[in-house]
Amino acid sequence: MDSPVTTTPAVLILLGPPGAGKGTQARMLEDRFGLVQLSTGDLLRAAVAAGTDAGRAAKAVMEAGGLVSDDIVIAILRDRLGEADVAKGVILDGFPRTTVQAQALDALLAETGQRINAAVSLDVDDAAMVDRISGRFTCGSCGEGYHDRFKPTAREGVCDKCGGTDMKRRADDRAETVGQRLQAYHAQTAPLIAYYANKGVLQSIDAMGEIDAIAGALANIVQEAMT
Ligand code: AMP
Repeated sequence: MDSPVTTTPAVLILLGPPGAGKGTQARMLEDRFGLVQLSTGDLLRAAVAAGTDAGRAAKAVMEAGGLVSDDIVIAILRDRLGEADVAKGVILDGFPRTTVQAQALDALLAETGQRINAAVSLDVDDAAMVDRISGRFTCGSCGEGYHDRFKPTAREGVCDKCGGTDMKRRADDRAETVGQRLQAYHAQTAPLIAYYANKGVLQSIDAMGEIDAIAGALANIVQEAMT
């Protein structure tokens, strides 16, 4: 496919509860459109692993399934957006998660003359999310995501993409914590659907189906939004 022509770097937002498939879809869009997936969850997990001040402040909140403070997350995102590799554009996965974060993003983009090309809501049933989340795991070497039932590896314990064998499961994917994460989503993040609808950039996708079908619908939206 030809690369879409954009004058400023594209900004796409994926909205949806934990388990909706934001990470999986963002990675597919990266490959297809040459955009950079920017996951505040990944950035925070890296900060926790590195033992930075932000990581130490975020650790307990993340383990409990709550939302890390806006100040910390906005600072992490601002730093990441300043790096050179995001020049072509970004897919925001897991950010913004509060109205304060959405307003901070608007202000950041205004500074650089960028706009939000599309905010795509991945619509799913809450009940299915616990199943989806509790079965998922990732390749520790390349980051490819899998699921015990919905997307198993071809050979048990071996990554289809890179051959790595270091599979990881997230500590906050335990069933007890998933309930808290869904609650945080509904209380603090779901209002952003109306926020982006009011800006005229909201698109919605039924994300209960097959990964490839959802990816196809999403790619059409992104193609359109980037031209
Ligand atoms: P995720 O990988 O997107 O599911 O995020 C994992 C955890 O990181 C969340 O449950 C939150 O505790 C924290 N987190 C990630 N992104 C944000 C954000 N934008 N605002 C607040 N907390 C966040």
